This record gives sequence, C-alpha cells and structure tokens, in this order.
Amino acid sequence: MTELAIDGLPRVVVIGGGFGGLMVAKKLRRLKANVTVIDRTNYHLFQPLLYQVATASLAPSDIAGVIRHILRNNSNTIVELAEAREVDVAAQIVTCSDPSGRRSDFDIPFDYLVVASGTRHSYFGHPEWESLAPGLKGIEDALEMRRRFLLAFEEAERAATPEERDEWLTFVIIGAGPTGCELAGVMQEIAHGMRRDFRRVNTHDTSVILLEAGPRILPAFPESLAMRAKQDLTNLRVDVRTGSAVTKIEPGNVYVGDDVIRTRTIFWAAGNIASPISKSLGVPLTKTGQVIVERDLSIPGHPNIFVIGDLAHALQSDGHPLPGVAQVAMQQGRVTARNIVASIERRPRTAFNYFNKGDLAVIGRGKAIVNLFGGKIQLAGRVAWMIWLGIHITYLIGFRNRLSVLLQWAYAYFTYQRGARLITKTPRSDITR
Ligand SMILES: Cc1cc2nc3c(=O)[nH]c(=O)nc-3n(C[C@H](O)[C@H](O)[C@H](O)COP(=O)(O)OP(=O)(O)OC[C@H]3O[C@@H](n4cnc5c(N)ncnc54)[C@H](O)[C@@H]3O)c2cc1C
Repeated sequence: MTELAIDGLPRVVVIGGGFGGLMVAKKLRRLKANVTVIDRTNYHLFQPLLYQVATASLAPSDIAGVIRHILRNNSNTIVELAEAREVDVAAQIVTCSDPSGRRSDFDIPFDYLVVASGTRHSYFGHPEWESLAPGLKGIEDALEMRRRFLLAFEEAERAATPEERDEWLTFVIIGAGPTGCELAGVMQEIAHGMRRDFRRVNTHDTSVILLEAGPRILPAFPESLAMRAKQDLTNLRVDVRTGSAVTKIEPGNVYVGDDVIRTRTIFWAAGNIASPISKSLGVPLTKTGQVIVERDLSIPGHPNIFVIGDLAHALQSDGHPLPGVAQVAMQQGRVTARNIVASIERRPRTAFNYFNKGDLAVIGRGKAIVNLFGGKIQLAGRVAWMIWLGIHITYLIGFRNRLSVLLQWAYAYFTYQRGARLITKTPRSDITR
C-alpha cells in the first residue's frame, strides 16, 4: 500500500476526514495497525460555521484545519489526498483518483474500511437549479455565496431603475432548517452593518425571504423554540414564509405555485444526497443514497466495512432516523474505532446508541435557541447564544483558529462590521445566476 506500512499489521482505511472519519483515526492512534485516511481535500472543515464564511464574517482558514497536521501525532496513520471513487467489497480495495489528475488511478487495499464521506446538497430532481441557487457544503460553496451576496449590493448601487435595484436587494433562501435560518439572520445584520458604505442604495431596504415547504421552521426543534426563532427572525426583518414549496427557479425568478418572487440572488439550504461512493458498496440504500447500516454500523454481509456520519442511515431507539449532525458522526466514529479494536482482539462489538446532548441554532447577533438533553433544558436569547458560542469555540480544531474566531466575533459584535467582505472569483464564478 505504502512504503510506511508495516507488513502483517491490519490495514484500516478511512474515507473522509470529516467529523466521523477524523474521530475514527484519532481513536485508533495507539492501535498496532496501518491506518490510511483518504480525503479529496487536505483539510477538515467545521461545517457548522460555514455560513459565517458565506456571509463574510470569517475567512475559510478560520474554520478549517489541515488533516495531515491534525493527525501529526498518529504515527500509525498516513493521509492520502485522493478522491475515493469506488469500493470493491469482495477484493477489499478502494480505487482512488488523484484530484490534481497528475497520477493515474490507484488502489488502496484494506482489512477494515470506514466510509465517512458525508453528503452533498440535493435539488429534489432539479439539478438545473444548482447553478441558480447554490447550496452550502464546502469552502468553494461558501466563497461563491459570499461573492454573490456582496456583489448584489454593488449591482444594486449601480442599478438603472428602482425595480432592478429592488431585485438586487432581494435575497431568497430556500429551506428553513438551522443553515437557512442562520444565513437569513446574518444577512440582514450585515446589510445593516454596511449602511454607511453605499451612497445610492439604502441597505436597510434589503429584503431577505426565507422559504420553507413544511408547516414550520426548524422542524428538529420543539415548536416553542421554533416559534421564538421565527419571532427573532421577523424582528431582524426576515420575511419567513412557511408552507411555501418552491416549484420552479429560473434566472431572476423563484416560483412558489402561482406566486413569483423577483430576485437576482437565491441560496439553497434544503435537501441532502449521499456521497456517490455508497452505490459501489452493493448494499441497500435509502432514497437519498444513505447506506442502511447494522446496529454496530457495519454494512449487511460485510462486518469489516463500516459506514458512519451523514452517509449512514441508522435508527434511534424511537425508530426515527438519526439526524445528520456532527455529534452523531463523532459518536459513531468513536464506537467504530472501538469495534475495529474489538474485532482485531476477537472481543464482542458494541451496538451504537446515540446520546443526544442537544441541538443549537443561532438566529443573529446575541440570539440563539438551544434544546439540551432531549428537551429538558430549552433556552432562547442571549444565554442560549453564549452556550452556542462556547460550544462552537470548544469544538473548533486548533488553538489559532479558536483565538482568531473569538477575536473576529468580538469585533463584529461591538462594531457590526465584518472582516472578510472581499469579492473574489471562485471556481464557480462562471456559473450563470
Ligand atoms: C452548512 C452546514 C451547517 C451545519 N451546521 C451544523 C450544526 O450547527 N451542528 C451540527 O451538529 N451539525 C451541523 N451540520 C452537519 C454536520 O456538519 C455534519 O453532520 C457532519 O459534518 C457529518 O460528518 P461526516 O464525517 O459524516 O461528513 P463530513 O464532515 O461532511 O466529511 C466528509 C469528508 O469526506 C470527504 N469526502 C467526500 N467524498 C469523498 C471521496 N469520494 N473521496 C475522498 N474524500 C471524500 C470530504 O472532503 C469531507 O472531508 C452542518 C452542515 C452544513 C453543511
């Protein structure tokens, strides 16, 4: 496999250096094994703060850490910058390609495999909407969102007619889960913070419309907290429209049934679809491509292959599927590492049981909702925001990142200004709006 591998030791391959995959590698640090972590990027991304990059509050490097550096003390681990394309479960091989295209495809053999490659956004059978309404999953997505968001104000400033200006100052966000709500709240705050920077437009005229197909926003939260979040968003001048399923998107228009919203900037915060590698495992998948896993997170018929995190479809004790959140991925990573060690040492494995510590969503400056320990503690407002802040800082990888993020949040809190308001070209800049 590699010149550093020690012959005869078990080969553990982990696809994905996200929350799940990284946890597996960290927990296997002391195992006598050859561990390989494959990721198509060289960094671990803290997705919960991605919306802050998209809204010019933080820079990409604040919320990402280099995987190789994070795992530098794992002397048994090799990091491969590669795209895992296919798994041959019978031959126990992962076929990879080089993202730079410089070397030809190569195989990495495994004795144990952990697939933790996450999900991408899904456009519910309308892939043509993606270029018009980009979603938020990676750094490129966030930079493209930031570019479109900031550019809209520049276009509004030089608009030829009031109608055109209004279209540029109207932002539509589709999907009112945590990401949609977080984006909507921050966008209005930033518009407020930029009020003295423009001469011809009043950024107070910015309209942010949050569309949700379901009957209420934030369905994962108790209704009372969701109501409070809706009120906070409304106070921030976000127009929250529930029961509003988008039926069509075309340049300049979003359709909700017969209603048309004229806008030049649309963002997608709705569905997810599994990473395509799940198909090559040859086991039952859900409609969105998630792998239906056993209680110990292995796949049916292959006890040496595990699927964890957003890519896995596992049920909670109440029969509901586990949510696609970081704490599920990390807890599953921990249990999977334990089960790999148990298998090597020929001990029984542990079934995965999720312990939900709580859900959080931030609504704006000094406002959040927090639902802890299965609803035993429900908080909204400033105290909830402080908890949100503490947890996000704690889980950010790297002391430098934590310090940098804290300083930038303090600056933004006291001045209403954002430090990363640069309009830069992105790999997706050529996409039509
Ligand atoms: C905008 C946004 C906001 C979120 N907010 C929250 C929040 O507030 N709280 C919360 O708990 N959760 C939040 N989540 C969800 C949380 O980030 C995910 O549940 C978590 O990242 C899942 O971890 P994972 O390890 O399964 O996948 P990921 O963390 O997505 O990691 C997957 C990794 O696999 C790599 N990869 C993918 N395909 C391949 C391939 N073929 N070959 C090689 N590498 C590959 C990727 O580069 C990535 O590094 C948010 C997600 C998003 C997108």
